[in-house]
Amino acid sequence: MYEFARVAKEYGLPIRLHPAWVVDQYDENEYNLRTKQVLHAFHELELAHSKGNNILPSGRALDHLSKYFPKKELDLTIKCGQEPYSSKLDDVNTISIAPGGDICVCSFVIGNAYQEEIDSILDRYNPYEIPEMKTLLEDGIMGLHRYASGKGLDIDISEFHSVCGACRAIVDKLARI
Ligand code: SF4
Repeated sequence: MYEFARVAKEYGLPIRLHPAWVVDQYDENEYNLRTKQVLHAFHELELAHSKGNNILPSGRALDHLSKYFPKKELDLTIKCGQEPYSSKLDDVNTISIAPGGDICVCSFVIGNAYQEEIDSILDRYNPYEIPEMKTLLEDGIMGLHRYASGKGLDIDISEFHSVCGACRAIVDKLARI
């Protein structure tokens, strides 16, 4: 990575380091200590660092770092786009592309690049025409939970650490029906 960064800088590419922190960058835990050591190894290149990027309690982070994420009661009033590093479904600024070509807006698949041009998928994207998205936008996570229950899914959302975690789990299960 160091060599890659060195050459990228030499060629004038706009690169920066993007460290992820457990709890936050000021918390003195073993992972942050190691991250600081890695950053120090890049010191001579004088690269900018991004700020923030605290690891969220979901997915693999919960599997391996759960002791740093004490469980709090889930705040069901949080709306789509209000959690850190997230965007509301009707104000999207990033998409992701899965290895199988699925074009994803956050936790939702909106098309497949092998079947349709990405421009066309994005042009026709309207979250208010997709029932699950519309429900989430208008009725929040509880609305999406009721929607999933109506489809026969039994999901205990109180076990999740965040509304986004609950949303991803529900959307994932809906996609498997
Ligand atoms: S995970 Fe769900 S609730 Fe969170 S930003 Fe994405 S779509 Fe909205």
